[in-house]
Amino acid sequence: MEKANRYIFAGEVIKVPVAWDEALGREAEDYEDYYDGPVYTPAGRPVLLTIEDACPEAEMVDDDPASIDCGSCRHYHQFPGSLLGVCNNEKRRARRSGQSTKTKEEMT
Ligand code: SF4
Repeated sequence: MEKANRYIFAGEVIKVPVAWDEALGREAEDYEDYYDGPVYTPAGRPVLLTIEDACPEAEMVDDDPASIDCGSCRHYHQFPGSLLGVCNNEKRRARRSGQSTKTKEEMT
């Protein structure tokens, strides 16, 4: 059975695989395996690394010019002890599997 960390956000369970990490010398979340392409919760919320570049719909928690990634956005909910989190911005939510998450402004 594959090991995984389980997080719950807005009633959804998000499972992140855990594997042996040679560099760390212990088990750790396997971001490479998990993050091979866009990842969404069952309800279509993006699951993102905290260091992902901020999108045009970002709303930063402060005015610091160094705030350039999802981890600084008020829509981002980071999982405790993880580098992953969920974007809860409705504008970034996928309506169906495979559907673009771009806004109308980005498509024009
Ligand atoms: S709205 Fe979502 S995708 Fe955009 S910067 Fe914020 S957390 Fe990241």
